[in-house]
Amino acid sequence: MIHYKYSIEGIVQGVGFRPFVYTLALKHSLKGFVLNDSSGVKISLEGEPNNIDIFEKELYSKLPPLARIDRLEKVACPLKNFNKFIITKSKDTQSKHSLVSADFAMCSECLSEIRDETNRRYNYFFTNCTNCGPRYSIVKTVPYDRPNTSMQPFTMCKECQKEYDNPLDRRYHAQPISCEKCGPTLSLKDMNGNVLSTNLEALIGLAHFIKEGNIVAMKGMGGFHLICDATSDKTIKNLRQKKNRPSKPFAVMMKSIEDVVSKCKLSSCEKSRVISKERPIVLLKTKKNNISPLVAPFIDRLGVFLAYTPLHVKLLDFLEKPIVATSANRSGEPIVTNEEDLKSKLSGVIDYYLDYNREIINSSDDSVLQIINYRDLIMRASRGITPLSIRLKTNETRKILAVGAHQKNAIAIYMNNQIILSPYIGDLDNIETVEAFYKTLKTFKEFYDFEPDLIVCDKHPLYESTKWTKKQDIPFVQVQHHYAHILSCMLEHDIDEKVLGIAWDGTGYGDDGTIWGGEFFVCDRNEYERVAYFEPFSLLGGDASIKDIKRIALSIILDCEEDKIYNSFLSSFKKTELNLLKQMHKKALNSPNCSAVGRLFDMVAVIAGVCDKVSYDGESGLILESLYDYKIKDSYDIYLEDGIIKYKHIIKEMIKDKDASLISSKFINSLVNIISIISQNYSLKTLLSGGVFQNRTLLEGIINKNDNIIFQNLLPINDGSIAIGQLTRILSQKN
Ligand SMILES: [Zn+2]
Ligand SMILES: [Zn+2]
Repeated sequence: MIHYKYSIEGIVQGVGFRPFVYTLALKHSLKGFVLNDSSGVKISLEGEPNNIDIFEKELYSKLPPLARIDRLEKVACPLKNFNKFIITKSKDTQSKHSLVSADFAMCSECLSEIRDETNRRYNYFFTNCTNCGPRYSIVKTVPYDRPNTSMQPFTMCKECQKEYDNPLDRRYHAQPISCEKCGPTLSLKDMNGNVLSTNLEALIGLAHFIKEGNIVAMKGMGGFHLICDATSDKTIKNLRQKKNRPSKPFAVMMKSIEDVVSKCKLSSCEKSRVISKERPIVLLKTKKNNISPLVAPFIDRLGVFLAYTPLHVKLLDFLEKPIVATSANRSGEPIVTNEEDLKSKLSGVIDYYLDYNREIINSSDDSVLQIINYRDLIMRASRGITPLSIRLKTNETRKILAVGAHQKNAIAIYMNNQIILSPYIGDLDNIETVEAFYKTLKTFKEFYDFEPDLIVCDKHPLYESTKWTKKQDIPFVQVQHHYAHILSCMLEHDIDEKVLGIAWDGTGYGDDGTIWGGEFFVCDRNEYERVAYFEPFSLLGGDASIKDIKRIALSIILDCEEDKIYNSFLSSFKKTELNLLKQMHKKALNSPNCSAVGRLFDMVAVIAGVCDKVSYDGESGLILESLYDYKIKDSYDIYLEDGIIKYKHIIKEMIKDKDASLISSKFINSLVNIISIISQNYSLKTLLSGGVFQNRTLLEGIINKNDNIIFQNLLPINDGSIAIGQLTRILSQKN
């Protein structure tokens, strides 16, 4: 007989880990105990060495679906002669290091229960177990125990309590456990707050309203969704008008994977992501289907996800058609999580709403990703993915806060060899999103008992996150935006050596005060050298150019001093406006220099005649991508001269080419070429990061033409992982 003590860290609380250990110990005739403590789980185990060996192997091989072991330490101890194996009371959890898990989609066992007439949870909307359901969205503070969640007001009935107390039950210590007798109530309401019906009747009523063409709201996991019939042009048109959202694509929720397969072309890899426990929105190629073309106009992709809570499942059962399900918010603001905000912000948009009386404590949006080269490319990390923790080997003992960028903001903290990334917060352009940024800071401080010794932020002096940092009485460090992009990719792939880092996006503050975004760095974790970049142009009127993208094309034409030959293009401007813009260009008034590749896509979209104003970030890139023709192998002559990438001259050839598909294809091909040319000059790994690489055609082209291309798969490729890059800068410093 031998006795070992184990300390285990990782995602091991609230995910059925202790009952799993208990079951394993019984199976292999081992004695001792298991308990939760502030850093994870402790086990004392006595038995035959052979049995302990098998136990250890199965600890990894049979791990519950939501659990993750990051670190396991084991010490031999004198024999205690335990007479049985028990789960004992949690030790003091005063110091808070244990991880809070993300929310997960309903598991298949719970799904079959709500569809089984003989089961006591038949049709029950809040069914969950230790392998699925809400976590982050309902937890107020740690440890993750029922009194610390928004399930606290609901007293368990006898049957639920029995399940909760039985270590061999799938619902042992499932904190949100409930049933129709003891759980939250659903209510269908009109905009005056009158209750029209409750529970099953309410859901049937909601389905009826959707069928009739109404736009409704429904409280989901991390907030309210706006929902309507995805097959009706009239309804989608109405939604676009009311939401003032002319063309940004909506995501579509479907009932089953069979349904998805009938409407989209998807690989087995994409299929596995659609049905995964995270249930993200996955961008898929569409085929002929009954979904309104107004859902995602001008593009050949559709964001699709499966029903992920019992509530969504039942709604789609009653409806039998796909629905648009999009975060309920006022344009640019965070997702709405309570009835009051819903009524005040969306009264002109929705007709009815379905609410329930369990509070959403922490909001989250649906995560968005696409599959490229069999790997995830994450565009929004939220429900199911974040809070995301990464364990590191470092000697750093300080607690560090990184506040991220401005767009697609998310924060990250470092403490005790662990990085934790927050859910997506949003663009810090309005008071509501800035408030959400403060709230996330507060939540993270509370969850992890975290007070930073150091803050890291972007170099941009006008970012809200930078301004906030400078107001704190705490030392801070600023990290260049595109360097942070590459650093986050290095951290994810555990790369320490010198690399060629290519960071392409729409905007970011450069070391020379101009707007960067077409960067080639030779860098390691300590320093970077800007070895190539796109020739700058002036953004006429600064931010005004970002939406009115005609100005970008004009600026580049004027740079070429060949405006006389572009009469037809210039005639699309009003005369007074054109004169003003020409003055701006000549005198460099309110026209910051910019070298961002994201903006070059805008220029090309204008010249190709497919778009002259954009209403959402990345619109021109998506449209050009859908025009790409794989048969066209030609490209424009973009070349490198003294570290500067020259491209302005190609505008002439583009105008001659006329055909939008030809222009788009040649342009994307030439971007692929310039990356090949430059990366051949360095025998280094090539790392890609930045929002431009969300362009699937471009990224696939680069991967096909080059070896050793590395991009982010775990972290968002856009500004959503800037905070992680900022932390990496500090963690790499040897002092
Ligand atoms: Zn379940
Ligand atoms: Zn119950």
